[in-house]
Amino acid sequence: MATPYTSTQDLTHFIDGRAQAATSGRSQAVYNPSTGAVARQVQLASQDDVNAVVAAAQAAFPAWADAPPLRRARVMFKFLELVNAHKEQFAAMLTAEHGKVFTDALGEVARGIDIIEFACGAPQLLKGDFTEQVSTGMDNWTLRQPLGVVAGITPFNFPFMVPMWMAPLAIVTGNAFILKPSERDPSPSLLIAELFKQAGLPDGVFNVLQGDKVAVDGLLNHPDVKALSFVGSTPIAQYIYATGAANGKRVQALGGAKNHMVVMPDADIEQTVDALIGAAYGSAGERCMAISVAVLVGDVADKIIPKLAERARALKIKNGMELDAEMGPIVTREARDRIEGYIGIGVEEGASLLVDGRGHKVTGYENGFFTGGTLFDHVTPSMRIYKEEIFGPVLACVRVADFAAAVQLVNDHEYGNGVACYTSDGNVAREFARRMQVGMVGINVPIPVPMAWHGFGGWKKSLFGDMHAYGEEGVRFYTKQKSIMQRWPASVAKGAEFVMPTSS
Ligand code: NAD
Repeated sequence: MATPYTSTQDLTHFIDGRAQAATSGRSQAVYNPSTGAVARQVQLASQDDVNAVVAAAQAAFPAWADAPPLRRARVMFKFLELVNAHKEQFAAMLTAEHGKVFTDALGEVARGIDIIEFACGAPQLLKGDFTEQVSTGMDNWTLRQPLGVVAGITPFNFPFMVPMWMAPLAIVTGNAFILKPSERDPSPSLLIAELFKQAGLPDGVFNVLQGDKVAVDGLLNHPDVKALSFVGSTPIAQYIYATGAANGKRVQALGGAKNHMVVMPDADIEQTVDALIGAAYGSAGERCMAISVAVLVGDVADKIIPKLAERARALKIKNGMELDAEMGPIVTREARDRIEGYIGIGVEEGASLLVDGRGHKVTGYENGFFTGGTLFDHVTPSMRIYKEEIFGPVLACVRVADFAAAVQLVNDHEYGNGVACYTSDGNVAREFARRMQVGMVGINVPIPVPMAWHGFGGWKKSLFGDMHAYGEEGVRFYTKQKSIMQRWPASVAKGAEFVMPTSS
């Protein structure tokens, strides 16, 4: 068993380099989902707190924006070193509040670290373009400058990695950043803040605002917040995008998902089963890139489904701090009940329930928010369990006749986050990647989360806005482009010019 995170301390804001209590008098319980017990309280922001955090960030912005990119990058290098030294502490926090297994939590931390490493290259990313002699005696160059105060609103399911999609790039490009973490697992946010401070980041450049809708609406409506990055469910993403845009802000809002894996008859069966089990039940299906639909082409269903059922029944479901655990509990009791409600809906809709995870109990953790792995066969596109995001360990198998039907099925879905195809045919793989109306495609890769320098984002109702998270798109999101043309008196042409200037 790894060392658990057990602090009982209230979680506060982190404003202007120090912990600050909320002025609202409101707070919310944070649970340990394995035991079902309240572990600590998180304080929730008032509008006054929103004003205070924005004011602190606004005050810190000019000097930080003026700091040479190399100096900013050196702070990021130091932060990277500190995060590496605290990997296990972060992972224990994730398991304690989210419930994901410790080994998976370490993977989340590693993927967040990838982006900190990418952000360390800021001087290269910001160096701009220069054209000498666009006209006689005249040069033209392009540079990117920070926006000001920017905010990130993050979901419960990646409380370390998703803030790292945002804060390192926002900061290294010269902005002041406010993180509004999920109120369900807020502890990592304060350790992030502490480590930024230890790394030498000036006070007010990274801040944490704990809270719920009051905090989010306060940021959305505050005139000094110039940009918002959001990751969460689709209805809230759509709301954030519309409200932020109406208030003149730059917004990227990543939403929900229903990710399919298409299995062709020529796929390697053992590899496919491994991939489906890991991608459907890993992190209890609470990943925006989890596979929730297996699209089984031709006769592959009869070969694969018995193996899937056997493996789903055998999942090691435990307190995530136990190192052999494959799946932990669901984040909250409400989320567990919602997932189990969907299983009932699937049965009523006529899908074949092959493995029923409802009512799963773990010895010694009878009050934990556990559910088992669930497997449905004969799911059809009109069913709610096909159309809606369940966000739990429920895998729906849909049988289709051929490749064309599989492509059509995936492309007709309203979500377009990730998709995978298992096949041994290169031409099928190529066609699949070309035809998918989905932002991230895996060929024999079940969860194709792009690396730090490629950027992450879905299509359709999985992303509102035109820029993906992190990678070069992230750098563009957090900066605005400026183009400068220059010439000096000795080369100035004589006389006023009344026609459109052209190269001469
Ligand atoms: P959520 O939408 O409930 O919450 C996300 C954030 O929005 C939280 O910080 C929360 O406090 C805030 N929020 C919630 N309700 C709000 C409201 N009414 N007004 C303003 N703010 C509000 O999402 P969640 O349950 O924390 O996370 C799971 C969801 O996130 C899933 O739908 C999942 O697919 C999605 N997700 C998407 C991606 C992606 O990259 N596309 C990544 C991770 C998670």
